[in-house]
Amino acid sequence: MTLQIECSDLVKIFSTEEVEVQALQGLTLRVDRGELIAIVGASGSGKSTLLAILTGLEIPTAGRAIVAGHDLLAMSSAQRTQYRRHTVGFVWQQTSRNLLPYYTARQNIAMPLALAGVPRAQRKGRTEELIELLGMGDFAGRRPAQLSGGQQQRASIAVALANDPEVLFADEPTGELDEVNSQLVLDALGAVNRELGVTVLIVTHDEEVSTKVRRTVQIRDGRLSTEVHRSTETDELGQEQHRSQEFVVLDRVGRLQLPQEYVRSLGLSGLVRVELADDHAQVHPSEQPTAAEAKEDDR
Ligand code: ADP
Ligand code: MG
Repeated sequence: MTLQIECSDLVKIFSTEEVEVQALQGLTLRVDRGELIAIVGASGSGKSTLLAILTGLEIPTAGRAIVAGHDLLAMSSAQRTQYRRHTVGFVWQQTSRNLLPYYTARQNIAMPLALAGVPRAQRKGRTEELIELLGMGDFAGRRPAQLSGGQQQRASIAVALANDPEVLFADEPTGELDEVNSQLVLDALGAVNRELGVTVLIVTHDEEVSTKVRRTVQIRDGRLSTEVHRSTETDELGQEQHRSQEFVVLDRVGRLQLPQEYVRSLGLSGLVRVELADDHAQVHPSEQPTAAEAKEDDR
């Protein structure tokens, strides 16, 4: 597997006149070529900031960020423009940011190709290929205002793919859509990943999206906390079994963040007791004296 996205200890600080906001606080993420991955997290957790960095819009304050061999901390502004035109594609939540209103969906797809200087005949071939892949035959001749939200987002995906990027980023692509349209857009992103082999990274606050991809990463306070890997296996009786495994990130000094359900259900707080076993480590609630024992001690 080739590593396509590699972030380590990534930090982004926004400084305004009065305050400094640390939007990313040492984030580490690795994505292989051809993966389809979802990053979920509450509003304000740093998801859009991460995408702004990975798409070359924002420069990280510190750390390491490499996408398809391009070092995002060491790029000239000309290289950054090339990177944004050819290496990555992006779909934003607001469809108005993805599509030009006075052009048809088809013309919108051809636009980035024209800007990149692709000859007319080739432009047509690529545009029709994407229209076919995204099932846009019925509405490619219409302008954005004449399309449903789901159709607009599918057109946006086609626009983002026009120049054959290596990675497609989508920030809350289903944020303004109902359930049916959300499903259509997620299916389209899945098809793009499968058929074209493009690495796809979807950012969302919708936990539902995470059930539709194999790997989900949770971002909290500008760091990645937990990761869930899903797989389907066929057991000896020929039954499909869905398996999901949870992982947490261990940082360089050995800190890890336990999933919140574990903390809640075991009532963990303050000091917890840890124990090393042969091939794993255990975390226990520290032994609190029971009410009866405490009374006993008081005597
Ligand atoms: P999310 O997309 O997960 O909702 P963001 O990445 O948009 O989160 O924001 C993370 C934090 O960084 C928030 O506290 C937000 O207010 C802050 N932030 C984002 N962009 C800027 C900016 N351009 N200037 C100042 N603060 C920002
Ligand atoms: Mg956001």
